[in-house]
Amino acid sequence: MSRSSDPRTYDLDALRDQVLSEHGGTVNDSIPQLGAADPGLCGIALVLPDGTVHSSAQADVPFSVQSAVKPFLFALALLDTDGAACDRIGIEPTGEAFDAIKLESGTGRPPNPMVNAGALLTAALVDGGDVDGRNERILRGLSAFAGRSLEVDEEIARAEHLLGDRNHALAHLMRSEGTLQVSADDAVQVYARACAVLVDAETLAVMGATLACNGVNPVTGERVVPAGIARDVVSVMATCGVYDGSGRWMQSVGIPAKSSVSGAIVLSAPGRLGAAVVSPPLDAQGTSVRGRLVSDRLSADLGLHAFGSTPD
Ligand code: GLN
Repeated sequence: MSRSSDPRTYDLDALRDQVLSEHGGTVNDSIPQLGAADPGLCGIALVLPDGTVHSSAQADVPFSVQSAVKPFLFALALLDTDGAACDRIGIEPTGEAFDAIKLESGTGRPPNPMVNAGALLTAALVDGGDVDGRNERILRGLSAFAGRSLEVDEEIARAEHLLGDRNHALAHLMRSEGTLQVSADDAVQVYARACAVLVDAETLAVMGATLACNGVNPVTGERVVPAGIARDVVSVMATCGVYDGSGRWMQSVGIPAKSSVSGAIVLSAPGRLGAAVVSPPLDAQGTSVRGRLVSDRLSADLGLHAFGSTPD
């Protein structure tokens, strides 16, 4: 199959067809809405620094962003606290699952912003004063990353809030350590709503591209966060973005990324492109099986590995 090593002319539909023959993995069913996802969904999008959007079939199918929101919550928390969020959260990889009931020993801080404990805290650190204010601020901030007005799936937000027992446990644990300043329920509610924001592969790729372009949205031209914040966020995606699979991911794919239970992966290759893939069946670490195959292929064909040099 011939594919261009130029992202503008790369045959994303051929890649999509190829990975659709892979049937491994399990669709997450932590809430009924996620369990009802189409296991055959597969969308891929690339966004270049000049604002070009290049996508496959199904790159416009909406899904809830879930944990792929975490890099952007971290960015907004850094922005709204003038960087102080960095002192409130660790940035070390955990080698554990995304919802492990564990804080950093000695400090009681969440281990990093890419696991649930960290994202509960970053969502609580954005400006807003109360739940409604923070919800509004987060939706506005995420919309700037996306370059369009995003919406929340209210049913998913409610289900995540009601059924997120481990998130409630983590929030209470952080309260008991004095690391979470808002009430445990408020923290879960805001984080749950952020996870329920609807995106599609194209939109998520624009968000990833904004991080890859020093914090400037390449489609709208808006500076969303300072370059230093984009750099900090992408660095933590590289070390912690795929949970206990982060080491293997950086070794094989080599592109800073964030996985999520909806089967989305957002990727940021600094200076090169932003990308997103969605396909719901997940592997044991909660990474989309087809999403990983697509990322592997794009990395090799487009020469995107952070520590590699030439395309093969
Ligand atoms: N909303 C999910 C949760 O908090 C997100 C987890 C994920 O995507 N890995 O459990």
